[in-house]
Amino acid sequence: MSRVTDYIQSTFQDVRARNPHEAEYLQAVEELLATLEPVLEAHPEYLEENILARMLEPERVISFRVPWTDKDGKVQVNRGYRVQYNSAVGPYKGGLRFHPSVNQSILKFLGFEQIFKNVLTGLPIGGGKGGSDFDPKGKTDAEVMRFCQSFMSELQKHIGPSLDVPAGDIGVGAREIGYLYGQYKRLRQFDAGVLTGKPLAFGGSLIRPEATGYGLVYFTENMLQANGKSFKDQTVLISGSGNVAQYALQKATQLGATVIAVSDSNGYIIDENGIDFDLLVEIKEKRRARLTEYAAEKASARYYEGSVWDYQGPADIALPCATQNEINGTQAKALIQNGVYCLAEGANMPSDLDAIKIYKENDILYGPAKAANAGGVAVSALEMSQNSLRLSWTKEEVDQRLQDIMENIFTTAKTTAETYNLGKDYLAGANIAAFEEVANAMIAQGVV
Ligand code: GLU
Repeated sequence: MSRVTDYIQSTFQDVRARNPHEAEYLQAVEELLATLEPVLEAHPEYLEENILARMLEPERVISFRVPWTDKDGKVQVNRGYRVQYNSAVGPYKGGLRFHPSVNQSILKFLGFEQIFKNVLTGLPIGGGKGGSDFDPKGKTDAEVMRFCQSFMSELQKHIGPSLDVPAGDIGVGAREIGYLYGQYKRLRQFDAGVLTGKPLAFGGSLIRPEATGYGLVYFTENMLQANGKSFKDQTVLISGSGNVAQYALQKATQLGATVIAVSDSNGYIIDENGIDFDLLVEIKEKRRARLTEYAAEKASARYYEGSVWDYQGPADIALPCATQNEINGTQAKALIQNGVYCLAEGANMPSDLDAIKIYKENDILYGPAKAANAGGVAVSALEMSQNSLRLSWTKEEVDQRLQDIMENIFTTAKTTAETYNLGKDYLAGANIAAFEEVANAMIAQGVV
């Protein structure tokens, strides 16, 4: 066994022994480590500096009690977290997720991926993530507000515009960011740069709501064009129906594709005429309702229970935009058999390790989450810039910067894969390029 293989394996064994119950976190680590051999071979100093073990350990994990009163006057308790993973490149940056599945493993996997995603944007932001096992679904606005106020009462001790800048993720949108920001300001001071994804009226950026979905489509269009294809006239399957899915649908449609599917946690709709963006947004954002309402109102749409990845019809491109581990190996095989030749990830870690293996074996065009969905956090960093400048840029200006950033990320993944003789392995290309940046920044700052 080579020295490098041995180093990777022993580091992974160590991480597994130290975090035995953190399945999602270990999965994200395994996915990254599987691609690092060539870069560790090329940089003996990374072994001497024991950079893997240092990078895998979060700088800080904060966990706290979040008590709040529900609409019936009953006192409820949730658990809040902030994982401040790595600040080698800039202040901790990453979203807050409110979902019943949230635990330390999920937030560590998300925070870990965020380090590399953020560095790929080329902007000076470190990696972090936070959230709570609170479920906003079915709660009144007043309940969500009281929860957000309690959550921020503790979180505000640990964040700041040059320290740690949270934003949204699953279950945290403009409403939640508004309540969180209101409480921060009440306890501290007006300082727009402490959160991103804010409404426009108090320091938000144009294009931030669209950024993850648009960025995903810009990245994918670059990947398609580099391989002689484009979105035009392609049939696209999207999972999810939240913010990322909505704007991926809008942009892919603008580029000439027909998006025939979107989903929620109960089922999915198929509409061969193309999903109607306005109706979807009306149902999800205004009514906060389920997709069954879409099917009830649209004659051309059919609703099915279960996972959209079990849909057995022809398609060209798949954009998973729901959540982690939504596609397994069996589903990946079926997608490819049904014609899918390109898959890019709007969600974080939507493909399990078996699915990734299948993409590789079949040589499909695969845009990994760290690269493909970096548009959201990239525009968050642009929001931070605008807050510092006390200016706001036009829609066109932010959109142009986003397009340039996504093109750069694709080019970085592609050229790094080529440099290391890895063909079209954009996963390895993105991982290696990001890892090198973070490792070099850490080494330059000494053993800290
Ligand atoms: N939650 C998003 C992500 O996964 C955005 C984070 C941010 O804007 O800070 O990248």
